[in-house]
Amino acid sequence: MTDENQNRPGVEPGKEPKSLSRRDFMYGSAAMLGAGAFFSGASPLMAATESGQGASMNIKSKGWAAVDTSGKLKPWEFERRPVGDDDVLIDIKYASICHSDIHQMKGHWGAQQYPQVPGHEIVGIVSAVGKNVTNFKVGDRAGVGCMVDSNPECESYKNDEEQYCPDTVFTYGYPQESSPTGISQGGYSSNIVVNSHFVVHIPEHISFQKAAPLLCAGITTYSPLMKFDLKKGDKVGVAGIGGLGHMAIKLALSKGAEVYAFTTTPDKVDDILGFGATEAVVVDDLSKLRDYAGTLDYMISTIPVQYDVAAYSSVVKPYGTFTQVGMPEKFELTLNALGLSANRVNFNASLIGGIKETQEVVNYCADNRIHPQIQIISADQINQAWEDVVNKKARYRYVIDSATI
Ligand SMILES: [Zn+2]
Repeated sequence: MTDENQNRPGVEPGKEPKSLSRRDFMYGSAAMLGAGAFFSGASPLMAATESGQGASMNIKSKGWAAVDTSGKLKPWEFERRPVGDDDVLIDIKYASICHSDIHQMKGHWGAQQYPQVPGHEIVGIVSAVGKNVTNFKVGDRAGVGCMVDSNPECESYKNDEEQYCPDTVFTYGYPQESSPTGISQGGYSSNIVVNSHFVVHIPEHISFQKAAPLLCAGITTYSPLMKFDLKKGDKVGVAGIGGLGHMAIKLALSKGAEVYAFTTTPDKVDDILGFGATEAVVVDDLSKLRDYAGTLDYMISTIPVQYDVAAYSSVVKPYGTFTQVGMPEKFELTLNALGLSANRVNFNASLIGGIKETQEVVNYCADNRIHPQIQIISADQINQAWEDVVNKKARYRYVIDSATI
């Protein structure tokens, strides 16, 4: 045992606590103080747990981190900043695996600082709040997605589209002065400290496990679907049926669309039809797309690798819309101008969604029982799960049980 028990009541230095983990103890302490108890940056919670070590203590966290571009994660103990006046501390219960985690840790989107803890689909229970926080109290069910801080003076922030603010700090790997490691650290971990503006409520009528994937996969597909102003009976194409794609199918169906799903994996056809899609098209050859040329009102592509965008967008009617949400290596896609002009498609790319809209999709999915299909794993299965995601074997979102971290 490390010296972290030295100042804990009831735990003799050097001895294992009987049944109370550090996390239990912290949560218990917070719960005892009760809802409405506020913690300033000089957190009484930390003072109580680390008495003698002074105020404004960093918060110890355990996580699984990338240490290089290998795509293999290892257990890592690190520190998070103290709970500031505008922050909440969340005791993480589950975090799910997004393909973006893998891309970023492998350096596909640029050089990274290591160790780095990925994870931006995070759910848990609030265990401390800063004194200015009014939207959360200790014990609340909470979720965190792809953003953890930004600039409230920014126009995009004021317009509830924080993701487009140049100052936004994304959940892992972004420079963050307040972080003891110098960068933001994500949700494959035991806890997280987040500015309360970037935390959403998780309603009681959806499980933590099923809510987690909504924080990225859900909002990333919901936002562009809503911006397209989907109407009942619209024909919607979904390209790439993984974590994001299967949510796009379910969300479009819930709005009354006919959904055409395009996948390269024949094994997924039964699942896709089970989700309620009108058709599942196996694109083992681009010629398969010709049968659908000019027939769909809208298409969303979650494909996270380089592919023939013009071939896929040819299925959209003239003046229809095609949205790219999958993020390939170096974020690069090659566009064929003639292909795109052939149906005068409105091509756009979309990045997650704002916090207000994230709360909206979480509530919408809870109310309408739109649930991701998930597989719960323990932390020691993360590395295998990452390989499965890359090899298109995930069905359809791996969710890490944070108690195993
Ligand atoms: Zn993601």
